[in-house]
Amino acid sequence: MNDLLADQMPYWHRIEKAARELFADYGYREMRVPVVEHAELFQRSIGEHTDIVEKEMYSFEDRGGDRLSLRPEATAGLVRAAIEHGLLHNQKQRLWTAGPMFRHERPQQGRYRQFHQIDCEAFGYPGPDVDAEVIQLSARLWRKLGIMDVRLSVNSLGTPESRRSYRAKLVEYLGARRAELDADGLRRLETNPLRILDSKNPALGDVIANAPRLIDHLDPESKNHFDRFLDLLAGCGIEAEVDPRLVRGLDYYSRTVFEWRTGALGSQDAVCSGGRYDGLVELLGGEPTPAIGWALGIERIVGLMRAGGLPAPDALPAIYLVLSGEVAERAGLALAERLRDALPGAGVMVNMEGGSFKAQLKRADKSGAVLALIIGDDEAKKGVAAVKWLRREATQVELAWDELPRRLAAELKPGRKAGNDDG
Ligand code: ATP
Ligand code: MG
Repeated sequence: MNDLLADQMPYWHRIEKAARELFADYGYREMRVPVVEHAELFQRSIGEHTDIVEKEMYSFEDRGGDRLSLRPEATAGLVRAAIEHGLLHNQKQRLWTAGPMFRHERPQQGRYRQFHQIDCEAFGYPGPDVDAEVIQLSARLWRKLGIMDVRLSVNSLGTPESRRSYRAKLVEYLGARRAELDADGLRRLETNPLRILDSKNPALGDVIANAPRLIDHLDPESKNHFDRFLDLLAGCGIEAEVDPRLVRGLDYYSRTVFEWRTGALGSQDAVCSGGRYDGLVELLGGEPTPAIGWALGIERIVGLMRAGGLPAPDALPAIYLVLSGEVAERAGLALAERLRDALPGAGVMVNMEGGSFKAQLKRADKSGAVLALIIGDDEAKKGVAAVKWLRREATQVELAWDELPRRLAAELKPGRKAGNDDG
């Protein structure tokens, strides 16, 4: 579980802000649900024989004897809440949420035990148009963040019925090639054979490559849905590769599944994954409701932005107040407040704990500020400040405090605060 230090946060703010704006542009509304739910909710929705439920959940009994889990993903909680509050009764919902998720995995680069997701869900839309829309939204997010190194893989899992008959064929095939499976594969052969298809063990490459393909065993309706989905994606200029091995690790998916992958983060290559889960709402006690969604891992997006050398947005105050003497210090705190009123977004940092002019100017420089306002007791008594530009050659000028907002506003570009630029 990571500490997120201040240096890193500009990336986070930028991602969160971009996502928030995008969701609004597409008509998705934010919802927030608890971090803790009944363990049973996840067991039933994600599935007993999935990695998440078998080995990754943080579960515990609370003081009242309830069996609870820290949420490993967001969808189950959103569905639970949507049912509980009647949000799906004769209504469609386009929703999003964001927050921490918890999985007891082996920690490594790009894989953490507390990680953060942004999560997009659309309830009540059965057609492939919304499948394309949620992907369109994610594609726009990459553009907005300047992320280039991602590509889209898609597949269809069909309906639970067509999957069952495919599963039988797969088990027959894999059963005959048992000797080539690893321990994980043998175990999954009994519990969740489809998961063998996305095994990361290269030794299984051959068995998997020759396995019957789910995509060849789709029911006609799922096949139509998938073809139309591909056509719609092409229509909005989004390239997608059909990957018959893409099965996703959660049981609740049906039909469309997809994953944005990157080559820039080593083996943790999934940055955003999702799919359709038409049966989940009913499984959890709601009315039958088609649904689709995705989740992206913020840590991995941050990793991508860093790998791409994208600069963090500038979150630094532009103005640094250098104050020397008791009168100046007293006046300085009040002046800083006036400047914050008059120049919202510029950022004003006040020197603390005195120090010589030289020491304070060093701090000013280190702070990243664009300019220092230098005020000693004499200046304070006169109500003036010396303006020293820190990032360019310019002669120092003296300005009256009343003049400062007007004179500085012209020079300080707005939008220096974290996340204010999308460029
Ligand atoms: P992976 O194949 O990397 O294990 P996953 O299929 O388990 O991913 P999902 O459950 O679909 O992932 O979660 C959606 C996204 O959340 C992933 O694409 C990834 O970006 C991110 N993610 C998942 N698990 C972690 C983790 N332990 N640490 C950081 N990010 C994660
Ligand atoms: Mg995983």
